[in-house]
Amino acid sequence: MTFNELNLIEPILNALKTEGYTNPTPIQQKAIPYILQKRDLLGCAQTGTGKTAAFAIPILQLLHALPQDRNKRTIKSLILTPTRELALQIGESFAAYGRNTGLKHTVIFGGVSQHPQTEALKRGVDILVATPGRLLDLMAQKFIDLSHLQIFVLDEADRMLDMGFVHDVRKVLNVIPEKRQSLFFSATMAPEIMKLADNILVEPAKVEV
Ligand code: AMP
Repeated sequence: MTFNELNLIEPILNALKTEGYTNPTPIQQKAIPYILQKRDLLGCAQTGTGKTAAFAIPILQLLHALPQDRNKRTIKSLILTPTRELALQIGESFAAYGRNTGLKHTVIFGGVSQHPQTEALKRGVDILVATPGRLLDLMAQKFIDLSHLQIFVLDEADRMLDMGFVHDVRKVLNVIPEKRQSLFFSATMAPEIMKLADNILVEPAKVEV
């Protein structure tokens, strides 16, 4: 299968060409059509399977289809991920696949000065990639408005639980719109992870690789 068969728009196909990608990986083949249909998704996939592109590409395409006000951007997608390294990698993916879309993203994580992050937020972004602690911190300081959120992604849910972020995740869930699309990725599907997925997803499509 090629990316041309996934109904992707030209700006994204061109970016994938620039990246040198020709064929979607199995998780991309399976997940992208469901996400483009605005379905919730439960994805069982490890790092290295191409899972980041499996959610970043369709998110970019869905947001690109919305009317864009470059002078007044709102956060329409939030990607929660457990570590700074993963957050930075996801940010690089949005930069690469989204280069021709006009959409803006930023990455926030703890352990560094918040000033550059709050400046980027003030300039306006469509997509926010975040680790839980810094997200809650900047939300408490009113730098982040999630009331326009349309697509929520929980990445590496199993590591999120292992690292003790479950309460932080629940706090985020309490302040995002109930009417939204949610994507949930985990390398394992232990009972407590399935329980969390049940709380987040509505009639999800299930994809395993
Ligand atoms: P991930 O599982 O998201 O961490 O991705 C693993 C690596 O595969 C990353 O370095 C991506 O740049 C690369 N990658 C993702 N999708 C593709 C693809 N369809 N073709 C070639 N490389 C890819």
